[in-house]
Amino acid sequence: MIIAIDGPAAAGKGTLARRLADELGLAYLDTGLLYRATGKRVLEAGADPEDAAAAEAQARALEPRDLERTDLRVDEVAQAASKVSAVPGVRAALLDFQRTFAATPPGGAKGAVLDGRDVGTVICPGADVKFFITASDEVRATRRHKELQEKDPDVIYARVLEEMRERDARDKSRAVAPLEPAEDAILIDTSGMNADEVFAQALDIVSNK
Ligand code: C5P
Repeated sequence: MIIAIDGPAAAGKGTLARRLADELGLAYLDTGLLYRATGKRVLEAGADPEDAAAAEAQARALEPRDLERTDLRVDEVAQAASKVSAVPGVRAALLDFQRTFAATPPGGAKGAVLDGRDVGTVICPGADVKFFITASDEVRATRRHKELQEKDPDVIYARVLEEMRERDARDKSRAVAPLEPAEDAILIDTSGMNADEVFAQALDIVSNK
């Protein structure tokens, strides 16, 4: 069983993916982490995330411990991730890892849940269930703002909204694997839903498959 979950930033993909994986005994891969870790490596190397050669070299040099870093969920890294992710060589470098994870999930799990931007369209086009999770810009920015405020009480809502819109626009407009729903994806708009409701609806859909 492969479940693909795509959608824009802060729509609730990660929470849903983790809960489905737990409930169904599936392995979980947050594919955004691969791009964040690549972006972080590029920044640390003092290179420009839009420099295609530098970005691809860092994607190819990625190691498991890069994904365990606890400093990847910050604005600067998200923007770098979005820039490196538009480089075709970076996407190509990360493709095999993601497909292998889905085909032979770690820990002997009988399937996998992957969340990201192109899981249903490019990584696992044959996934058993595909979800495209969205919510209005304002709802997503409010959720992300609240999350970030736990670490930094001074974080400004307008900045969060702007950063999110900028990243989504870049993710949607890139030439390779842009953010878009797969033709056979089930759309869930989580604007007026809480995490429990999203989970219940998605689980119901998966159970009926
Ligand atoms: O999901 P997350 O916010 O961690 O993703 C960070 C960035 O990585 C996204 O804005 C996007 O540019 C990129 N990404 C991608 N394809 C994926 C997952 C993430 O291009 N499958």
